[in-house]
Amino acid sequence: MSDLSNESVVQIEKNGIKYIQFKKLLEYEDVLTHCFTLKPLDFGDNSNYEEKKDIVDKNYKAICNELNMDYKNIVRPYQTHTNNVKELGENVGIFLEEHTDIDGLITNKRNKVLSLTYADCTPIYLFDPIKMAIGNIHSGWQGTVKKIAKKAIEKMIQVYNSNPKDIICVIGPTIRNCHFEVEDDVKDMFLKEFGDIENIITKGEIKQNKQKYYIDTVKINKNMLMKMGLREENIIDSKICTVCNSASIHSYRTDGKSAGRNTALIMLK
Ligand SMILES: [Zn+2]
Repeated sequence: MSDLSNESVVQIEKNGIKYIQFKKLLEYEDVLTHCFTLKPLDFGDNSNYEEKKDIVDKNYKAICNELNMDYKNIVRPYQTHTNNVKELGENVGIFLEEHTDIDGLITNKRNKVLSLTYADCTPIYLFDPIKMAIGNIHSGWQGTVKKIAKKAIEKMIQVYNSNPKDIICVIGPTIRNCHFEVEDDVKDMFLKEFGDIENIITKGEIKQNKQKYYIDTVKINKNMLMKMGLREENIIDSKICTVCNSASIHSYRTDGKSAGRNTALIMLK
């Protein structure tokens, strides 16, 4: 299995568990813990969590143990491809009622482990080192069309008085324009929202009488974040495609309905 390390990413394998971390966030190791898990760790999805609970809990315990986080402080929302971003209250737990239809969490509280899960959708890690606040944003193609990243930044400005110029963002492993193939219906949704951004849509082949297109959602999210005032040098792209690397990363496009889920974790120490 290939190593996913690159100029912004380090891959770690310890005690049989594998994950990656981002060099930019590791610069703040004193105050911040984070990772993106790799196969074989699986965190289940909304529909099969109960069924997979034993293995999922075991995996959460393993990764928390590895990174010195308390498993009891995991917070995992019930993600449904919305653009709803919520500031975390006191409560922690998996699929809490108050975290139904939530695809982004922000907090300035310490020791709360924000866990969102991914299989091709885009993980967006946010960190404001001045106001000491973090975010974990699930921006699948639907969340991207609904501009969840923009909503997350607006919320950090509103709740923490963050200056967007201070916010550091990492775009984790996601399906990228090499593999995000769509047809006219989805292409038109992107065109409607983001028609002003150059080179986000590439025309592909015609398959079974249908014109295919490739969409660059990473470029769209970067553009959205820069329009919100983030500095280009503070937006770090992991440059990892989940489909190209499906041997290491759960991918819905590759594995279909049986696909497992990776989790992105971030916590203020
Ligand atoms: Zn790819």
